[in-house]
This record gives sequence, structure tokens and C-alpha cells, in this order.
Amino acid sequence: MCRHLAWLGAPRTLAALTVDPPFGLLRQSWAPRRMRHGTINADGFGVGWYTPALRPEPARYRRAVPMWTDASYESIAGTISSSCVLAAVRSATVGMPVEETATAPFTHGTLLMSHNGRVNAEAAMSELLARPGAPVPDSRCDSAIVAALLWESTSRLPLPKAVADVVLTLSELTEPDGTPARLNLLVTDGTQIVATTWRDTLSYRAGPDGVLVASEPDDDDSDDSDSASDDSDDKGDSDDSGNSNNGDSSGWFDVPDLHLLVADTRKVTLSSLIS
Ligand code: GLN
Repeated sequence: MCRHLAWLGAPRTLAALTVDPPFGLLRQSWAPRRMRHGTINADGFGVGWYTPALRPEPARYRRAVPMWTDASYESIAGTISSSCVLAAVRSATVGMPVEETATAPFTHGTLLMSHNGRVNAEAAMSELLARPGAPVPDSRCDSAIVAALLWESTSRLPLPKAVADVVLTLSELTEPDGTPARLNLLVTDGTQIVATTWRDTLSYRAGPDGVLVASEPDDDDSDDSDSASDDSDDKGDSDDSGNSNNGDSSGWFDVPDLHLLVADTRKVTLSSLIS
């Protein structure tokens, strides 16, 4: 599985978000702490960020190599700052190509998307072909097909609804051996973050300067006990203020499984995807 994060708030450098945190994306590329499938994320990495003063579409830096091997990224990451960033490290699903075009974030217009999970690529492609006017995926990787489905859905629906629509549609597709799809999506348009939990981990931390949504906490301010499943759905379904947490002082909140998260700089809202 991959690991991903998105930041929305006061400008932060790419280094502050991905390289510097003790258990951040760089560390997660070789030693993730909560990954449920796979052990390392060495099949590529990517970062997308917005510079609205220059253009509405985000910039992207993607490589099909482990993040820790790219010294040039580390060198420039401290010099680029943005108020909205989405980044991912990749552990390619068996059978999927390892190439830059298969590496998140995927982009379309002002959108960025990452997929942590796995879906039957052939069945997803059939679903895509059934939608008139749907864009062609950048790669035959399952995640690229998921992205193309999302681009099509966003042409009809507001972003949160489009994300939920894609996850619920794809959740019906199993692998040939019956394995259910895993669909943790992370999406932004530069003004909001939309994410799903569908069989993998996700946490967020909100504060006065912004909100960070990530597959796993990037520091030690968490008890690391993966308490998501212990949180009542009542809490998850409520209109959480950005200050909700696990009841400890960590500031990190674990999102329960099968939920939709919608965040802007003012609040974070969780809702069940299945009720
Ligand atoms: N299936 C996607 C890929 O191959 C995502 C993999 C993952 O979450 N590890 O890139």
C-alpha cells in the first residue's frame, strides 16, 4: 500500500511536510508504521502543490524511484512552499507498472489525487469505458484508472460527492480471487481536501494554521495504537470541529474505516460512506 498526505493552510515548504517530520513521508518510504499491506514504499513518489499567483493548475514532481534516493528532491524541497500540497510514496500493487505515469499524484485541471489501495483494473476500465466522454487514463495502473473515473465524476458532481460516488462504484468490483477493493482516496482542488477510508488507515491533525490529512501520523505525538476502530461511529459521523482528537493530547485523530473526510481551513467533517 502506499502512504499519502495533504496539507491545507498557511504556506509550508515541501521539506517541512515530507522530509523533516521524524515519521514523515520520507521515513514512511522505508519504514511506515501503520501500513496494512506491504512493508516499504520504494516504487516511486510524487508531490503536487499550488501556486495560485502563477496559475490555477498545480505543479507536480514525480519519480519512479524511492524517495530516499532522490537527493535533488531533498535539495529543492526546502525552497518550495505552498498553502496546499498533496504527496505520496508508492508500493506498486503486484502486476502494476512501475513508471512515472503510474505514480501519484494524478492531476486534471485544478485537481490532484492519490489512491492508497487496490482495485480490479480490468473491471474498473470497463466501468470507465461505459461512461461517455471519460478521459483516457495516464497508465494501465489501477490508480490511474481510478483517477480517470474521478475526473469523469467531477464533471457531473461536486468534489465530495464525486469522490464518494467513485469509491462506492468501485467497491462493488472484486479481484478475480474475490478480494475486495481497497479505496483510500486523497483528493484536493487547492481549496479543500477530500479523503476516504476504505480498508486502510487515515489520520488528520487540525490546528489554527491548517489541516494535515495523512495515512499515518508523521510524529510521535500519537500513541500509535491505531485507535480508529475504537472510536465510536457517533464521533465519526458528527460534524467534527478541526480540534477533535483521540482524547489524548496528540492532536491526531484517526478516521474510522468506510468514511468520507471533507476538510477546509475552517473545519473537518466526517461522514459514513455506507449509511
Ligand atoms: N494500486 C496502486 C498502485 O499500484 C496503489 C498501491 C498502494 O496503495 N500500495 O500504485
